[in-house]
Amino acid sequence: MMSDYDVIIVGGGISGLLSALTLSRHGKSVLVLEKERIVGGNCNSYMVDGFQVDTGPHAITHLKEGPLRRLMDEYFTYMPVFVDYGHYYVRTEHGLTKIPSNLKEFATFDVLPRKDRFLLSQTLTKALTLKAFGMIEDKSVYDFLPKGLSKDALDFVDAIAPFLSGKSMKETSVNRVLYGSSFARDSVSENIFEEERQDDTSYASLITDRISKYQLMTILSSFSRLATNKVSYAQAYPRGGLKTLLNAVLFSMPGNVMIKTNESVKKILTSEEKASGVATETDSYFAENIIYSGFVKSLPSLISLPSDYTEKLSRIDQTLSLTIWLGLSEKMKEFDYTGSEVWFKGGAYWAMPISNYDPCIAPKGKQLVGFTFVINEDRNIEDEKKKAFDLIIRAVPGIENRIEMTHLQVTIPEKAAVTINGFFAGPRSPIPNLYLVGTDTDNRSMGVTRAGYSVLELLRAMKEDGKL
Ligand SMILES: Cc1cc2nc3c(=O)[nH]c(=O)nc-3n(C[C@H](O)[C@H](O)[C@H](O)COP(=O)(O)OP(=O)(O)OC[C@H]3O[C@@H](n4cnc5c(N)ncnc54)[C@H](O)[C@@H]3O)c2cc1C
Repeated sequence: MMSDYDVIIVGGGISGLLSALTLSRHGKSVLVLEKERIVGGNCNSYMVDGFQVDTGPHAITHLKEGPLRRLMDEYFTYMPVFVDYGHYYVRTEHGLTKIPSNLKEFATFDVLPRKDRFLLSQTLTKALTLKAFGMIEDKSVYDFLPKGLSKDALDFVDAIAPFLSGKSMKETSVNRVLYGSSFARDSVSENIFEEERQDDTSYASLITDRISKYQLMTILSSFSRLATNKVSYAQAYPRGGLKTLLNAVLFSMPGNVMIKTNESVKKILTSEEKASGVATETDSYFAENIIYSGFVKSLPSLISLPSDYTEKLSRIDQTLSLTIWLGLSEKMKEFDYTGSEVWFKGGAYWAMPISNYDPCIAPKGKQLVGFTFVINEDRNIEDEKKKAFDLIIRAVPGIENRIEMTHLQVTIPEKAAVTINGFFAGPRSPIPNLYLVGTDTDNRSMGVTRAGYSVLELLRAMKEDGKL
């Protein structure tokens, strides 16, 4: 059968577009089909009453040596300008306190009672030691916590958990917290794998061969980090908003990529049991390889799959988030910082005054702040919205008199939450020539960084399969 393209990519979010960019730079002709009117998915910005909102407040992580850095260095011809992220704070009725990133800072973190800090730092040291020796069981954070913590300490941990895994502390794995924090770092292992993988050795044999070296590096990096807090990967916000990152990908795209919007893929077509094309409502397109970047969970509605695989896909868990963007008529002293804040008493939010990174994001003299909440999809969304508003007003009294623009977004930030039994699909599907990319195919890090990892894994798999 004649193929129209080398590759068809279903979905034009950041994962799909990064895949299109990289594959086209490897000489492939690519067609991207996006069901919405515009590309970008969860990585975009748009105007609301003079304020430029993003699709949720974003901190782009691992920028010094993470996957996005590698993709940018190798494939981008246009670079976004990144503004240093600043700090993570916790807000209480007494104002803002920096969230500690090492044990020394944790000792003076007086948002929590001294007894809690003592218990928690002991537990963290234990977790790191066990992890360094590869002996940590994948328990929930809640099950790993010591007995005797105050309600505040439990609420604090429960407020942080969703921002690391997408779920509550009862569902979040301890491993996840260690990887998601600056205490331990997954790119240590990755550097080693990169270094050692020149000769096409399989991952499994590599792990067995190199385990001692890997463990040693992990121990050293975890403990030196704990003592010195030298976090060697940067976090930042793209100047000009999230759309600047999207535009850098689009502007870097060579001529052999075709992007079609308003094209919802309804079926993935097969020929001789291999993926060979896709069908939308009105058209069919054919290619040598198909890459799917929508929800892997929804894949069974597009193509028939083996039942054991479909069962695994049913274990993918997602979180619904609500972001409330508030355009403020003046800058508030409460938001005089760059970075983000967490509130954890009587409910939790994560907030970011994004116009502090770039004043052009708000009209002159005004401020734009985004507050994100994890919401329960089984509850009434309107009640959840009201509860969220009440919490903002309780946390930042007086804000209600300065709101001149309100904009709400209900979104799924990650295609898969990192829960204890959660499933991640990896770059290959059970159908030959059908590959997968996106935040439900790789469990490392979160968000755009995870999307970057998934693209690197896709390239690796296609190379191994002789497709690149
Ligand atoms: C509130 C919020 C806060 C966040 N905070 C951060 C953060 O601080 N840091 C960070 O790095 N990340 C953050 N993220 C996550 C980040 O935005 C996403 O991980 C990233 O944008 C996901 O990209 P993706 O391409 O994998 O998926 P998506 O953006 O979901 O893209 C998938 C695309 O495929 C299209 N599609 C799906 N099915 C079909 C079909 N059948 N046919 C055609 N098209 C289809 C969709 O329309 C969509 O455009 C946040 C997200 C939200 C919502």
